[in-house]
Amino acid sequence: MDTWTFRFDPADPADPADEGQREALCTLGNGYLATRGAVPECDADGTHYPGTYAAGCYNRLPDTVAGEAVENESLVNLPNWLPLTFRAGDGPWLGQPGAEILDEQHELDLRGGVLSRHLRVRDTAGRTTEVTQRRFVHMRDPHVCGLQVTLTPEDWSGTLTVRSGLDATVSNRGVQRYRGLSDRHLTLLDAGPLAADGVACTVETNQSHVRVALAARTRVFLGGRPVGVAGCGGRHAAEQEVTVRVSARRRITVDKLVTVYTSRDGAISEPSVEAREHLARLPSFGTLLDEHRLAWRQLWRRFRFSLRGPESPALPVVRLHLFHLLQSVSDHSVDADAGIPARGLHGEAYRGHVLWDELFVFPILNLRMPTLSRALLRYRHRRLPRARAAAAAAGRPGALYPWQSGSDGREESQRLHLNPLSGRWVPDVSRLQRHVGLAVAYNVWQYYQVTGDREFLGRYGAEMIIEIARYFAGLAEYDGTRDRYVIRGVMGPDEFHTGYPGTDRPGIDNNAYTNVLTVWVVLRALDVLDALGPDRRAELAETLRLDPAEPSRWEDISRRMYVPVRPDGIIDQFEGYGDLDELDWPAYRDRYGDIRRLDRILESEGGTPNRYQASKQADVLMLFYLLSADELGELLHRLGHTLPADAIPRNIEYYLARTAHGSTLSAVVHAWVLARNHRAEALQYFVEALDSDVADIQGGTTAEGIHLAAMAGSVDVLQRCFAGLETRDGALVLNPYWPRHLGALEFDIRYRGHRITLSISGDTVLVTAGAARLPPVRLCCRGEATELGPGESVQFPLKQ
Ligand code: BGC
Repeated sequence: MDTWTFRFDPADPADPADEGQREALCTLGNGYLATRGAVPECDADGTHYPGTYAAGCYNRLPDTVAGEAVENESLVNLPNWLPLTFRAGDGPWLGQPGAEILDEQHELDLRGGVLSRHLRVRDTAGRTTEVTQRRFVHMRDPHVCGLQVTLTPEDWSGTLTVRSGLDATVSNRGVQRYRGLSDRHLTLLDAGPLAADGVACTVETNQSHVRVALAARTRVFLGGRPVGVAGCGGRHAAEQEVTVRVSARRRITVDKLVTVYTSRDGAISEPSVEAREHLARLPSFGTLLDEHRLAWRQLWRRFRFSLRGPESPALPVVRLHLFHLLQSVSDHSVDADAGIPARGLHGEAYRGHVLWDELFVFPILNLRMPTLSRALLRYRHRRLPRARAAAAAAGRPGALYPWQSGSDGREESQRLHLNPLSGRWVPDVSRLQRHVGLAVAYNVWQYYQVTGDREFLGRYGAEMIIEIARYFAGLAEYDGTRDRYVIRGVMGPDEFHTGYPGTDRPGIDNNAYTNVLTVWVVLRALDVLDALGPDRRAELAETLRLDPAEPSRWEDISRRMYVPVRPDGIIDQFEGYGDLDELDWPAYRDRYGDIRRLDRILESEGGTPNRYQASKQADVLMLFYLLSADELGELLHRLGHTLPADAIPRNIEYYLARTAHGSTLSAVVHAWVLARNHRAEALQYFVEALDSDVADIQGGTTAEGIHLAAMAGSVDVLQRCFAGLETRDGALVLNPYWPRHLGALEFDIRYRGHRITLSISGDTVLVTAGAARLPPVRLCCRGEATELGPGESVQFPLKQ
């Protein structure tokens, strides 16, 4: 509608696929918990799926899949706090047959974090009622949610009954593919009325024993005055009904306020005590809403992005992406000991697990909320002992971070997954994606580059980087025949290649991404040792029992790692990739239309993508995404490779022709790597990244949760790629490739304590520092270096 508002006009009756997508996109959250935008009168019924999730609240359930015993850990769907419906006289309840919805519209206000719904309802007796609902999940007070409903009888007078409650009968049924697996995570401990106008319930997860308590109060106002409760008690203990007399065209307002606590929270005695006492202290819906809006106003100031110009349709989606990022992780995550789930707190895909997607999220947070980045890195640090144990179990030194994880850092990837096209359970070796640790190390280093936080590096970061480097150095085996180190039996980011065709051995050898980043991480381990003061260095060497031979082995690996570079400069995705068959892409496109999930198509035909030079997503190209051309050139040079001048564009072209984009991450990376030389194509991929969820480009997956990495990554394409912002060697480096027709971009970042505003148009870049009294920032634009002191501005002209 405008750059801050999204409007949804659902079909009547609602289309299940669209409704699921709308619910995910209309999720409200605050980093502590989030609730999908399901309508308050619905249950999970195949079309609607009310889901509420608290960050870090996981539970495990056993199952038997294709004859194998498995245990799955899931982010738990918590009791639904939304239920609220009404009826005129003894007519049908809203949500039941006979209550016809006439016009319906949902509006998501990003600026204030409010979801509204307008509708008119006509019942079988012809009574029409106008309904407006608005809700928030409080951004200041993370334990509070609110729903306000106004009801105006248009053409009738009589009694109106409101039914409001908490539904603890929920289960995890949000993903079709997981149906048939155990889904009941909660045991009801108690439910009942609370004072005159409330209800409460407490549940406990049946394996992890997290207690979750909700308390709700529902009050009815007529002409602004509270109406006495004229009849309480509902169908079950955590439900209340309130009957009032209403007159035509006189509006009544129903305010439902809810508090949520879990036994994972700090500074509490017990969740149900806390939920009840906090509820009793709450001010009015209106006061809470004002505070909530203020919290969002402050957040938006920090995450300001303005894009001005005639052709800037990107801005609303950029805002939507930031909005969902800030609802998935926020200040309230800082003490939550929770990671960044790939699909937000918005649905149940990947069972709420944490993968490597945070690689795409950190750049936005580092430059705006470094405290949050630090907390999220500490989530990884707390799981270092687990990662060490995983490495030891695999017979390696150091720390092996899992591909998918949740509560305690145990590997949670499935061993079998269901191909919905064939209906078969297929062995899943995706856990061989060892590169998560590389992402963790990369994030630690980037955080340090942006903040200069030596205290963090010394206390936590160095240990992670060293242990990760040790693992990869241990994974690298010296192959005397080639006088090179090799890494065998892993998977790269491209999930289509799980092994070589015709063999049973899982994994592929010498994945270029893994091998090059192994060189990167061992070099960073050396840098980190250098960066620490002598005392901490000695301490860490003692604690980690760092053998003096290790740094020399890292140094050696950094010069003799095997990377499959062809003579023409094409980097093989892994050893032997170029020997695989070429896929007949046009034939598959003709036959299937959408071939993003080529792996599923081939498996359903009895084949496998392992046979083909066909990738799910950017893999080699991830190198150009994470490392600047100079950095990559230097790393390869150490290894004795000199890439021809046109190597980068030729690699891009080669892999572009062989990539199905079966992951939303792919568009982000392609937009990035194409930006330098193929601006028009880069913009197409940027638009595709923006479309990931608003257009649900992976066909039905948004309903199962937003794609957080694509959301954050698309904003980062503007910030670090098109605007050309880098933080390295203690300086802010600017190298913009700004597409003029996107208009003028202005955004703020925090760098080493400074607030810095960057304004970029087609012709100039203007950098302004805030007034904070801090040492000046080293600034470098296209080779021109300068210093920027507090309150100063520097302008650089841009040649296109
Ligand atoms: C991608 C992974 C990604 C995951 C979660 C998969 O489709 O292949 O790289 O981590 O989605 O976003």
